[in-house]
Amino acid sequence: MQIALIAHDEKKPDLVEFVRNNIDQLSSVDCISTGTTGKRIKEETDLAVDPKESGPLGGDMIIGAAVATGDCHAVIFLRDPLTAQPHEPDINALLRVCDVHDVPLATNLASANAIIDELVGET
Ligand code: PGA
Repeated sequence: MQIALIAHDEKKPDLVEFVRNNIDQLSSVDCISTGTTGKRIKEETDLAVDPKESGPLGGDMIIGAAVATGDCHAVIFLRDPLTAQPHEPDINALLRVCDVHDVPLATNLASANAIIDELVGET
């Protein structure tokens, strides 16, 4: 099981706290992330995550490709709904490919917690 973790800058503290709160569950799966998000997770938690490119440099597309090939089984993407992003087309493509492949996608903490409980379970 592989899960992707992504957060826009304003939401990175929330994602770090989410990782800390679910460290056992997340440690039991393979975690990938966009570049800066993964760097923050590595610096601030004990989770072993595999950071790809930064989002604005194509990281969302790399994760989208993993969804399309069936390698990534869930995406937790804490988006900042109040700030325009330069790579909005890439973000929309990632959300779309999750829908195309019926891959669970969480864009806020409530749904992120639901994914963890459902897919990874309590440990
Ligand atoms: P980042 O990318 O983790 O490199 O900041 C996230 C994004 O903006 O999609």
